[in-house]
Amino acid sequence: MPSNPSVDFDAIVIGAGFAGMAMVHRLNRDGFSVQGFETGADVGGTWYWNRYPGARCDVPSLQYSYQFSEELQQEWEWSEHYAPQPEILRYANHVAERFDLRRFFRFNTAVTLAEFDEANGHWKITAADGSVTRAHYLITAVGCLSAANTPDIPGLNTFAGQLVHTGHWPDEGVAMEGKRVGVIGTGSSAVQAIPIIAEEAEHLTVFQRTATYTVPAHNRPLAPEEAQEVKRDYKGFREFCSSKPGAYGMLPNMQSALEVSDAERQQIYEKAWQAGGIPFSGSFYDITYDLKANDTAQAFFHGKIREIVKNPETARKLLPKHRFGVKRLCVDTNYYETFNRANVALVDLTEEPIERITEAGIRTTAATYELDILVLATGFDALTGPLLRIDIRGAGGTRLRDVWAHGAETYLGVSVAGFPNMFILSGPGSPSVLTNMVVSIEQHVGWVADCLHYLRAQGLQRIEADAAAQQAWGEELVAMVAGSIIATGNSWYTGANIPGKPRRFMVHVDYPGYVKRCAEVAADGYRGFKLAGG
Ligand SMILES: Cc1cc2nc3c(=O)[nH]c(=O)nc-3n(C[C@H](O)[C@H](O)[C@H](O)COP(=O)(O)OP(=O)(O)OC[C@H]3O[C@@H](n4cnc5c(N)ncnc54)[C@H](O)[C@@H]3O)c2cc1C
Repeated sequence: MPSNPSVDFDAIVIGAGFAGMAMVHRLNRDGFSVQGFETGADVGGTWYWNRYPGARCDVPSLQYSYQFSEELQQEWEWSEHYAPQPEILRYANHVAERFDLRRFFRFNTAVTLAEFDEANGHWKITAADGSVTRAHYLITAVGCLSAANTPDIPGLNTFAGQLVHTGHWPDEGVAMEGKRVGVIGTGSSAVQAIPIIAEEAEHLTVFQRTATYTVPAHNRPLAPEEAQEVKRDYKGFREFCSSKPGAYGMLPNMQSALEVSDAERQQIYEKAWQAGGIPFSGSFYDITYDLKANDTAQAFFHGKIREIVKNPETARKLLPKHRFGVKRLCVDTNYYETFNRANVALVDLTEEPIERITEAGIRTTAATYELDILVLATGFDALTGPLLRIDIRGAGGTRLRDVWAHGAETYLGVSVAGFPNMFILSGPGSPSVLTNMVVSIEQHVGWVADCLHYLRAQGLQRIEADAAAQQAWGEELVAMVAGSIIATGNSWYTGANIPGKPRRFMVHVDYPGYVKRCAEVAADGYRGFKLAGG
């Protein structure tokens, strides 16, 4: 039962991915009534939707998992260092069953409209089926990478073959055998899918707009001893990981790429390449800050690509032209090697842009490519997309779409001025996508739950970000990344992948600093928030 009889529930949670599941669990445990909504038919979020071949996490599974239950983290056994999507989805299902979470969600039910009812101080939520639900608090757990981006290419709807998006991969799979397949995009999803599609399809054409930086995963079965070692002191391991900037347990090399000899630098890069995965970006502390240091990382990649890819023309096209660190580092298994296969071709869209998609395939300015299957690996309208696809109206009917017309503004990435009693999990302005996300999700879940306890204990009815605190937060975020490589490039971190989207770097880059700040704000009576009612 909600504590206030004018609402159906204390809280509404939108989304049943890792964030939504953890949130409903915590609220229920703490005595708040909660209703969840989920567009999909079941739990899992990212891991429910992204069933494309090769999908897997690129944070080690022993880290990419919940820590809210010691029993859960002790009992679950990961089979691989980086678990594949079916295993992560099994894990999400296991969590849902173990903690009896499905009962809190209405599945196959997308929320389309969320209105703050000023007179009553609560949220009125309308779903696509027309149902209306009222709750005191609105908590969005809609994900950062859940609004699939379908590019506006002329003729896309005329394609007569099978059209699929990696972010909405059909459950029954896509039969590639004997087929001519085209993949548009070369980001993280494409890099995982391409080597496997190449093995299955008769022919694969990769349409590349931006050559990508990707490091080998060197994925492997997870040795029971390795898991045991972590499980002996899982709490300590989690603390170690959470003390790092991305909540990711790696120890960056604190040397500058410029202070070592050429031979030593090469050796350090080579060692990181052989170890594989995201820790490559910590080969030297300054490769994502100092332009000259950054040049050495780019040169290393160029050398690797030329070494791996046999056809010099293909290798040339695969050389990334943007700076290392501007975009998310991809992690692959045999990506560059795949371009040595006789059944794989690479089309550089900067040299021959797509003119249109036809019934038969893709026509570029230089040639026509006939296809049976077209895979859009074109990513997501990141961070703001999933929120803005809902019509969210705050105090006085103000639309979030209008408030964010020039870029997302939040306080702590969790609250927006003018949108009382609304909390965003992993919102723009929080560390979100630059972390091991399960960790930062749990931090948000805990912070929001603690906040609701505080409000209840103080007899307060309303909380919202103070506009001045929000503005200061935005300025702080900008100052944090001033002059850095990551904030200046064309990436989805800045909204550059979506035509017309306001360009703004939307991520906090220091997870431990962020956690400390959130704790201080709470300890200081929710400094920077306007609290009312009682
Ligand atoms: C292919 C891929 C690989 C990834 N790998 C990693 C990794 O290795 N490490 C890492 O840290 N992160 C990774 N991520 C990021 C990943 O999204 C997060 O780790 C995490 O799963 C996010 O959980 P979430 O619950 O916040 O959001 P999601 O898992 O995206 O769940 C959000 C849910 O909200 C639902 N929803 C959205 N809008 C509505 C609406 N209007 N009404 C009802 N329901 C709605 C969606 O259907 C979705 O199920 C990856 C992302 C992708 C796409």
